[in-house]
Amino acid sequence: LVKPAGRVLASFAAFSQCALSTLVLAEHKDGALLPNTLHTLTAAKQLGGAVTVLVAGGVGSTTAVAAAASKADGVTAVLTAEHSCLAHSLAEPAAGLLGAVQRSRKYTHVLAPSSTLGRNVLPRAAALLDVQAVADVVEVRDERTFVRPIYAGNALATVQAVGEGVRMLTVRPTAFAPSATGGGSASVEPVSPEEMQAARDAAGASQWVGEEVCKSDRPELGQARVVVSGGRALKSADNFSALLDPIADKLGAAVGASRAAVDAGYAPNDLQVGQTGKVVAPDLYIAIGISGAIQHVAGMSSSKVIVAINSDADAPIFQIADYGLVGDLFKVLPQLAAELSPN
Ligand code: FAD
Repeated sequence: LVKPAGRVLASFAAFSQCALSTLVLAEHKDGALLPNTLHTLTAAKQLGGAVTVLVAGGVGSTTAVAAAASKADGVTAVLTAEHSCLAHSLAEPAAGLLGAVQRSRKYTHVLAPSSTLGRNVLPRAAALLDVQAVADVVEVRDERTFVRPIYAGNALATVQAVGEGVRMLTVRPTAFAPSATGGGSASVEPVSPEEMQAARDAAGASQWVGEEVCKSDRPELGQARVVVSGGRALKSADNFSALLDPIADKLGAAVGASRAAVDAGYAPNDLQVGQTGKVVAPDLYIAIGISGAIQHVAGMSSSKVIVAINSDADAPIFQIADYGLVGDLFKVLPQLAAELSPN
């Protein structure tokens, strides 16, 4: 009985004595570091210790991103990895690279934003390293204790890593403020040929065929300060855009949707907010004709101010709304659009 307990204590002591160091997988697009990386850096800094950013991408795509990352507050080093197999964020080569970098440099923590990329790459790298990843971290308590939502955000679980293995976390960007940029001066260096080889070795399991990107002048849903969301009550795709767009335009807002609205074809899939959609935390979230099912609330309950418009005074959305308007959206929205001054 004494022996196992002794081993556990010894391994924790060994972990707590070793210098903390964190690797953050950067997300970037068109030569720009995406904001979710800056949010993830804040979580990395809260862990304490040195912070290295890994920028992986196609040939010639990492220079500007690495320069931006090197200037971010708290970043001590930037690693770059350029190869055609890393051009389209395919999970296999990116995970192979991440695993190899971790194997050779032995960080205590590896973090990625809880985005499509991070959710795709980090668990694969964790499997390659034979450790358990912790997903959707919303709070760092200490270097081995993290808080994450469970049951569609209805409860928060505090989980504690045991043993000496690297802690691999995806971090929910909306739960952490963005790190400041511009003041840092971290070193930038390429990964080693051996680390690069691991990415090449892992390539080929999947192939990039193409992408269809929705173009919009509106702010990106996950980053918008204001979100105007519509639900099943809009009744048609025509109503959805005719009634929500003028309000979103005047508020400079992104448009979101409930799953019922998406499933009914009123709004495209990438606008879905909720457990199986996007998680947003804008300054202002306006839920229109949305009942407030827990799966929807899981994606927007961290919004600073929530406004609900619903004809049913007992709709659950009013339980979390800061301001509520009981009324028929078909009457209320044209009035609201007319009252709002142009953006
Ligand atoms: P409803 O629940 O039908 O609500 C419509 C609301 O409009 C009602 O409250 C009604 O009072 C109001 N209304 C009707 N007419 C008017 C009017 N004229 N004026 C004003 N108000 C009016 N849902 C998500 O949104 N996001 C998710 O990510 C998500 N993931 C899910 C995952 C799983 C595993 C499951 C099982 C479900 C998920 N759902 C998700 C679905 C969720 O449970 C609800 O079914 C969905 O959110 C309901 O959408 P809604 O509020 O638009 O529709």
